[in-house]
Amino acid sequence: MAEEPCQCSDCQRFYKEHDRLIREFPTFKQQQELNWASIQSFRTLCFKVTNELQRQLSERESNEDLNLEEKHISDIEITDALDELESVNAYLYSIEALMEKIFDTKISNNIESKFREIADELAPDPLNVDRLVLNRLFHQTPDLPDKKTID
Ligand SMILES: [Zn+2]
Repeated sequence: MAEEPCQCSDCQRFYKEHDRLIREFPTFKQQQELNWASIQSFRTLCFKVTNELQRQLSERESNEDLNLEEKHISDIEITDALDELESVNAYLYSIEALMEKIFDTKISNNIESKFREIADELAPDPLNVDRLVLNRLFHQTPDLPDKKTID
C-alpha cells in the first residue's frame, strides 16, 4: 500500500521545485552545472556572512559605541551563528570536493538523450517516488530531537 504523499506547504513547494529543476535542466551536463553553481553560491553567501559577523563581533570588542543597525543582533546570537556556520562551511567544502568528482564524469550524446527522455517522463509526475524519498529529509531535520544530543 502506497503512503499518501504529504501535502503541507513545505512539501508542495519542494515537489514544485524538484520538478522544475528536472524540467529546466534535463541533461546530465545541465544538472552538473546547476548543482555546482548551487553549491558555490551557497558557499559564497555563507562565507561572506561569516566574515561579516566576525567583523561585527571584533568591532564590538574594541568599540562600545555601536550604531543602532548592529545593536539588534546580540553577541550570543552572533557567536552561536558563527559556530553553526563554521560547521556548514565545512560540510559545504566536503560537498564541493564530492561535486568535483561528479564533474569529472562525461556523458555521451546518446546517454544525454536518455536523460532528456526520462526527465520528460519524470517531471510532470506528482507522485514520483524518488522525490518523495528525497523530501523526507526536509521533514525530518527540523523535528529530530535526538539529532543534537547524539553528537
Ligand atoms: Zn510535508
